[in-house]
Amino acid sequence: MEARHVPVLVVGGSLVGLSTSVLLADQGVPHLLVESHRGTAIHPRAASFHQRTMEVFRSVGLQAAVEAAADEEFVQNGAIVSVESLAAEKMTYFFRHFNEGVEELSPTSRLFITQIGLEPLLRSHAQERGAEHRYATELVSFEQDGDGVTSVIRTRDGGATETVHSDYLVAADGAHSLAREQCGIGLDGRGSFADCVTIYFRADMRALIGDRNLSVVYVNHPELLGFFRFSITGDSGFLAVFSTTEPDGSRDTHVAEDMDADRCVALVRKALGSPDIAVQVENVQRWTAAAAWAAHFQDRRVFLAGDAAHVMPPTGGFGGNTGVADAHNLAWKLAMVTGGTAGPALLDTYDAERRPVAALTVEQAYTRYVLRVDPSLSREGLAPPMDDPSIELGAVYRSDAVLEPTDDDGAPLDDPRTPTGRPGTRAPHVLVERDGVTVSLLDLFGRDFVVLAGPGGQAWCDAAPAVGADLGIRLDAHRIAADGTLIDREGAVGAALGISGDGAVVVRPDGVIGWKADVLADDPRATVDQAMRRLLFR
Ligand SMILES: Cc1cc2nc3c(=O)[nH]c(=O)nc-3n(C[C@H](O)[C@H](O)[C@H](O)COP(=O)(O)OP(=O)(O)OC[C@H]3O[C@@H](n4cnc5c(N)ncnc54)[C@H](O)[C@@H]3O)c2cc1C
Repeated sequence: MEARHVPVLVVGGSLVGLSTSVLLADQGVPHLLVESHRGTAIHPRAASFHQRTMEVFRSVGLQAAVEAAADEEFVQNGAIVSVESLAAEKMTYFFRHFNEGVEELSPTSRLFITQIGLEPLLRSHAQERGAEHRYATELVSFEQDGDGVTSVIRTRDGGATETVHSDYLVAADGAHSLAREQCGIGLDGRGSFADCVTIYFRADMRALIGDRNLSVVYVNHPELLGFFRFSITGDSGFLAVFSTTEPDGSRDTHVAEDMDADRCVALVRKALGSPDIAVQVENVQRWTAAAAWAAHFQDRRVFLAGDAAHVMPPTGGFGGNTGVADAHNLAWKLAMVTGGTAGPALLDTYDAERRPVAALTVEQAYTRYVLRVDPSLSREGLAPPMDDPSIELGAVYRSDAVLEPTDDDGAPLDDPRTPTGRPGTRAPHVLVERDGVTVSLLDLFGRDFVVLAGPGGQAWCDAAPAVGADLGIRLDAHRIAADGTLIDREGAVGAALGISGDGAVVVRPDGVIGWKADVLADDPRATVDQAMRRLLFR
């Protein structure tokens, strides 16, 4: 039987596979997603989602639905603290509230939602836009050549195997990625350093929590290190345990080994600081704390995303967010290449852009693990802690899909509070007026390239549609001026983008600045045409 063909095969239908599917579906890319589980997440797992992730969801119209579902699960905007036990008086604050200091940086907020709450939203959104998801179906093997990837998939429970041919394969198949292994891609970084457990339990903690709004509670108890998250009702939650202390005082970082129900109850009671509280253990998940990233995120037609590409300890809540950022970086490139508007070499920029950022984020998660959880770990080459908003919003991409960042100072991150507007950085959130309606600048981006010009840059805007027509793409353009198509009442955009006069930028579909001209060119049409051809690898 002849193999069925799809442009993209996505392997793994958890957070990152589903995010990839949402973004591909939104851009009209036909694809098949296979997931070996029978449905979406049954355990809460990742819950803290950062503004950049929410901006991605906003770009496909999912922000309100995610916020509403999040409010069902958690009182939002709680503190992140460290205690000896929940009952102890003393609390050390990492954040007084979860959005402390970042409210102005984005049209979105950081929020808490479990994967149980989030994944069905992603699944429905993608499926409503034509995505095909096959659950209880696993990738068995694949081969690739110059023409594409030929994969063997199999339904569970002894079902039939099937051959699928795709132009590209996105491996969002998690930390033990079969795709990564079959490509022979090794891991860089620090490896694993603890075998941990997450204990899902029920207990009436309302009196212990009181009227405190606590999002994440790190527990630094003489007998255990870990962290709590509580449900909105205060009668259930989980305790993730990183390590325990043995009777001889030594630290046991292999807590997953002998974790029976009695021990789970004892640990939860210790961490709560309430020795007699009734605790009912519902589930125990074992996982490994590790800090590593794939040596390559791409092997020809196969791309690694999410935990398949990088693993990090949960300190900082960066893991899932970094995976969504991978999906965001890759999806528009796949859309343009499979749609024929960009050359395949555009896809080679995925590894160049995402791997350094992921490696930095892994190191930052490790630094937080050492400083917040386990100071006994090696501090060799420990990266100094960097500012959270810069990690979340300030990724700097350097690749051939970022043109001429002549003023590049080599900084690994941009500070979103003082954006540089340099090619390779996220175009900032600024409120502007369009057709009498106030929108975020970010709302202009998502599927197409966009030209933004300063007040004196009308010639750029005149040139853009013609360039778009020549290239067969949509290329909208806006002049930011009191009489322009974007009115900048606060005078902030020009400064933030560095185009206050007659300069211009081209912003990529992912909201990253791809090219910039400080002043008007002699021949704006030829200049934009040349920049766009380079950005599209044409
Ligand atoms: C205790 C804890 C708390 C965390 N908290 C946060 C947080 O607050 N914020 C955050 O951003 N991150 C957090 N993380 C990290 C986050 O959970 C992960 O980074 C994220 O879930 C990774 O998603 P993924 O889709 O890449 O991989 P996974 O969730 O591992 O999904 C991979 C999927 O691929 C499927 N699969 C595997 N092989 C195949 C195959 N051959 N064929 C078909 N399907 C296959 C699997 O069944 C699975 O569903 C936390 C992690 C832990 C352990």
